[in-house]
Amino acid sequence: MSRQGGAAKTTTFELLRLRPEDEVEDGRITLIGKDVDEMDDGSSTALAIIVDVYGKKMEEDFEGVLERRIHQFINYAEGAWHTGQRNLNWIRLSRSSVKAGLTFRHFGDILITKLKEEFGGLVSRIQVTIVTDKDEVQRLLPEAMEVYGRRDARLAGLTDESVDTWYTCSLCMSFAPDHICVITPERMGLCGALNWLDAKASKEIAPTGPNQPIVKGECIDPVKGQFAGVNEVVYEMSHHKIERFNAYSLMEDPMTSCGCFEVIVAMAPDMQSVVVVNREYPGMIPLGMKFSSLAGSVGGGKQTPGFIGAGRKYITSRKFISADGGFLRISWMPRELKESMRKALDARARELGEPDFVDKIADETVTTDAEG
Ligand code: SF4
Repeated sequence: MSRQGGAAKTTTFELLRLRPEDEVEDGRITLIGKDVDEMDDGSSTALAIIVDVYGKKMEEDFEGVLERRIHQFINYAEGAWHTGQRNLNWIRLSRSSVKAGLTFRHFGDILITKLKEEFGGLVSRIQVTIVTDKDEVQRLLPEAMEVYGRRDARLAGLTDESVDTWYTCSLCMSFAPDHICVITPERMGLCGALNWLDAKASKEIAPTGPNQPIVKGECIDPVKGQFAGVNEVVYEMSHHKIERFNAYSLMEDPMTSCGCFEVIVAMAPDMQSVVVVNREYPGMIPLGMKFSSLAGSVGGGKQTPGFIGAGRKYITSRKFISADGGFLRISWMPRELKESMRKALDARARELGEPDFVDKIADETVTTDAEG
């Protein structure tokens, strides 16, 4: 690969914001820092992609839905590869695409054109700011983190039982044709970018789009989270590859993964506990491999009992592998992941009556082999 941003090597984020009409100059593309053609071959860069939109019918609740399309639209560019989301995105450009003249400014063109094409009824003005200057990306990051937190907080109080309808997300079928994400109030999409409210909003603004309602229907197994209506939809959407879907189990008929997961949750070799590992962790995990090797066998739209891809927030959900013992089953996670989620992990541990639990979860400073 010729140039890249993210992959835990550099600070990156992508953010789509609704702005007042007079703050959005339609079609404007601003680059702060170096463009691709000024960077060295094989180098990495900090990268912020900020898309400001205005439209009479645009609402703040729709921001996350449009923002997720950055993933889809950047992947349309030949030689550009985008995975992840929010501040955990990762973009790579191939040598041939750079040689052919692809630049970050072209991302602006692509995003403005495609967002207008798909959401022209919602947004009438779009401007894109691309930042590769490291200090500026760092300065802008807290605002993005605040927005992500606010979006996730809107879900508080909603439970899987309190709604009749869950949602599909088929946006990543271009990577894994048989994969379908099932989004519930207590389990967001495995990319960590789309929650149940986002999927609901997405259906409103793009009625035939990637997020379609699933009427849960008859409950087949309340513990594993299996419903007749969900089975039917998953069966159809997976091209008849997946017959049963359990929302709360990683051991039996779990959700498939496209490859965009923020973390992988895997049963430990002794089957007594689970390890959780995030994409950014480069070292060995107590399964005798690294995240990159593990990701190869978990993605691709196949059910792999014992392994699931998930969004970080799912770890502290009350429905986190609840059919297989839940949160207290975690025995290992990378230190950085543990510390970055410390507040939420501690709160969940307290809720379960185990206030010291998080300190009992091992990390790479304790051991990286299953025996340990
Ligand atoms: S990972 Fe799932 S929820 Fe996220 S965009 Fe892809 S299909 Fe949708």
